[in-house]
This record gives sequence, structure tokens and C-alpha cells, in this order.
Amino acid sequence: MGKIRILDGHVANQIAAGEVVERPSSVVKELVENAIDAGSTRIDVIVEEGGMQLIRVVDNGSGIEPDDCEAAFLRHATSKIATGRDLFRIRTLGFRGEALPSIAAVARVECVTSAQSDGLGRRLLIEGGTVRRVEDAAASRGTDISVRDLFYNTPARLKYMKSTQTELGHISDFLYRIALAYPQIAFSLKHNGNLLMRTLGNGDLLQVIAAIYGASAARSMVPLQGENLDYTLVGYVSRPELTRANRSAVTTIVNGRFVRNYALAQAALGAYHTLLPVNRYPLAVLRIDMDPTLVDVNVHPAKLEVRFSKEDDLLQFVAEQIRLALKRQNL
Ligand code: ADP
Ligand code: MG
Repeated sequence: MGKIRILDGHVANQIAAGEVVERPSSVVKELVENAIDAGSTRIDVIVEEGGMQLIRVVDNGSGIEPDDCEAAFLRHATSKIATGRDLFRIRTLGFRGEALPSIAAVARVECVTSAQSDGLGRRLLIEGGTVRRVEDAAASRGTDISVRDLFYNTPARLKYMKSTQTELGHISDFLYRIALAYPQIAFSLKHNGNLLMRTLGNGDLLQVIAAIYGASAARSMVPLQGENLDYTLVGYVSRPELTRANRSAVTTIVNGRFVRNYALAQAALGAYHTLLPVNRYPLAVLRIDMDPTLVDVNVHPAKLEVRFSKEDDLLQFVAEQIRLALKRQNL
């Protein structure tokens, strides 16, 4: 008798959860990205106790068809890609079909969703990966997902959670960046009943910058706008007198996806040359669009890191655009 066996779906989901759901902010990220993929224009995020007690994301997007509701929580279940070739032309934030089953494997999840505007929808309760209840429910068009008691059934992971403030910091950091990436969507973030952030969703990036970094910071920003055959860049960089002690206020967004890319941030810094004081960093929001074939997003489970096929060209382009923008301001 051989010793190898195929793990049952339950265990497989728990393992996937270990990668996808690292902490409360990972849940917020996956749910908000789903809301964006669903075409929402308004996304409200409500958290309690740093997300450990409750993470609720309410959107006004397409909703999930009643017949798809349970399937959405199955592993590798996605409406976003169909074949391997689709992986090379991804335009949505999600595509792995892993988030919902992973989250449901390690929390108590309630999903109320409707794909119609007639007030009819569906409610689904899942605990630790087991469907407890599926029923018709009154719902407006869109999706309302609540995730309670994260990691209640995985004590080892629970032990690694940091303070409420730390977890909230990760959540708000994500929300700031996604709001910067989608100025046309109205976001809000509430923690323990307090409103921490609200954007208007009117498409004005500078207003989002003001909502996050304050009005006076927004007044010190210089606009960027440029393109060549491969890339389009829009955004804002701070005048050299507005700086930070670290690079955390440099936000890079590639094809609508917030990404971490050291080389890109470094190129932005380099563009300031000697304008910045030593060990000070600018505020920057760089929105870069390119043909999806020029960027591989399938290199990291949370899709936070990406690989560019013509990286040197891109870095040069970005640095040049920032240099030009600063020069235009006679700095
Ligand atoms: P992925 O986003 O990679 O497709 P998920 O597990 O995050 O996988 O979601 C599974 C599916 O559930 C999605 O493909 C989508 O069809 C549906 N879905 C999830 N969240 C929403 C939402 N907020 N609005 C509409 N559909 C959703
Ligand atoms: Mg998803």
C-alpha cells in the first residue's frame, strides 16, 4: 500500500488560507479587491478590534447570482479566467479563486448578496469551511460580507496576531493605497464606530491624496503625466520640501494593482537627485499602465510583487517623467 493520499478539500483550504490569509488586512484586501472586480462604485469597510472581531465589506457591485453563491466559496472557483491563456491578459485583481474558500476556512463568514435590483438575494453562512446555511434574503444589489472571529479554529495563527493598533495600521495602509489606485470609487473605513477615512469617488486623485495625507500635503504635490509606446504614467510627486522619514508614502500602482517594487520606488527617489535632504523620502503616487503582457502578476500569492519584462525601460521612463515634472516647477 502506498502512503501518498490526496488531501480532502477542507484541509487543502486550510493550507491555502495559510498563504492567502496572513492577518486581518489580508481579508480586507481580498474582499475589497473582489468588490472592485465586481464593478462597485462604493465600498464601505467596517472593522472591529483591528479586524480580529469583525471585518465587513459592503459593496454596490454586480452581486453574485443565487446559483453561484455556494460555488464562489469553492477552491479554484472563479468567474474571472477560464483557460491558462487568460493568465497572460489579466485585467481583474483576482483570478486564483482562492480567497473566499481560504477566508471561510479560518473564520465565520456571512455573505448576503444580490445580483438584481428587485431586493431579492441570498444569504450564506459558512463556519470553518462548512456551509451552515443557505437561504433567500432581502438584499439590495451588491455584496455584503462579514468575517467574524478570524483564526478562531487555527490557534497557532491566532497567537501571531499583533495589537489592535498594529492590525488596524495594516488595514488602513491597504485602504489608503487602494483608494489612491481607484479615485473613481468612494471608499470608507470605520473602526470601532469611528470613521477613519472617506473618499468621494469623483475620480480626482488629488482629493484622495488630501483625504489621506491632508490638504496641505496635497497642495505641495506636482502632477505627473506622460506616456511612451509601452507605458502611461499619471500621478503626483511631492515638492522636495515635503518629505517623509521613510519610503512608505511612495505608492506604485501598476494596471490598477498596488504593487511593491523596490526598483520602481528607487527610480522615483533617484529622479530627485540632490533635491532631497539625506535620508528623507518624497510622497509619491505613481499610476503606471501598460500592456498586461509586459507584467507578470502571478509570482506572489497575494500578488503584491510583480515582475516587469522590460524593467530597465520602465525605470528610465518613470525617472525621466518625474525629473521633467520637477523641472517644470522650476525646482
Ligand atoms: P477570485 O477573485 O480569484 O475569482 P474569490 O475566491 O475571491 O476568487 O471569489 C470567487 C468568485 O466569487 C469571484 O470570481 C466572483 O465571481 C465572486 N465574487 C466574490 N466576491 C464578489 C463580490 N463582492 N461581488 C461579486 N462577485 C463576487
Ligand atoms: Mg478574489
